[in-house]
Amino acid sequence: MPDWFREKSTPLIEVSLYAGYSSMYMQERLPNMNDKNTVQIMDIAFLNTTKKQLMEKYLEPRLQNQTKTFLVTANPEIVMKAREDPAYKAIVQSADYVIPDGIGIVKAANLKKQPLKERIPGFELMVDLLDYADEKGFRCYFLGATAEVSEKMVATVSKNFPDIVIAGSHHGFFDLDDPAIVEDVAKSKADLIFVALGLPRQEQWIAKHIDRFEKGLFMGVGGSFDTLTGTIPRAPQFWINLNLEWLYRLLKQPFRWKRILKVFEFMARVLFRRE
Ligand code: UDP
Repeated sequence: MPDWFREKSTPLIEVSLYAGYSSMYMQERLPNMNDKNTVQIMDIAFLNTTKKQLMEKYLEPRLQNQTKTFLVTANPEIVMKAREDPAYKAIVQSADYVIPDGIGIVKAANLKKQPLKERIPGFELMVDLLDYADEKGFRCYFLGATAEVSEKMVATVSKNFPDIVIAGSHHGFFDLDDPAIVEDVAKSKADLIFVALGLPRQEQWIAKHIDRFEKGLFMGVGGSFDTLTGTIPRAPQFWINLNLEWLYRLLKQPFRWKRILKVFEFMARVLFRRE
């Protein structure tokens, strides 16, 4: 079985109120900043835990109890976007858990002398959640990526996680307000909804519509469908171990250079206390 995507990487790897956004959602849910087990970076409260603990202590019980959950795996780009856009910041702060993705977040926590236990790559967390869903026979919905990748994603999941029920899928090029998509997700009664629209769209879509759903763990996963399907391969383990996954991505997708500048700005702000 091509199970390269299960490789567990070793520690520390890479470097408006929103229109129509439900304010009820924000009032009803305690912002993640109230959790004591967090490290604050630019007003974003990162849960300080390991991937294993996150699964066992936080996510698995919520999935078992069908507690609705909004999970953000935030890298420096997400934190910088939140810094620049108050509406987006409010969305990220309304998540149940914000998880540190990106070596930059871990380094920033070290600089602030509030170390995080480990980096939790969103891609690896998605694979662990798929494993758990497979074990429990949960229903999963895959929202996002191009139509071609979306189709491949369903085939890849069916093949590698045979006990997952594919509750539905849709490509990611639609209007965030499109009621047909919301209806399709609601109708699917999915336990896990992976949203691969890239930032900020994925968090915006989740925050905007989560009140419509009865249950579900909602997680923005960026380019993870491209990675799991092998469309855009993940960096080789060697690069990952050297904390250079970000550089590998940059070399493969040079159009990302502007985004990498934001990561440098993030690091400089933390270093010089200009958060
Ligand atoms: N995408 C999408 N709809 C959009 C924009 C992007 O479905 O309107 C998808 C895109 O095809 C890709 C993912 O979202 O699969 C974003 O990937 P990227 O590598 O940019 O993710 P990030 O770096 O933001 O995690």
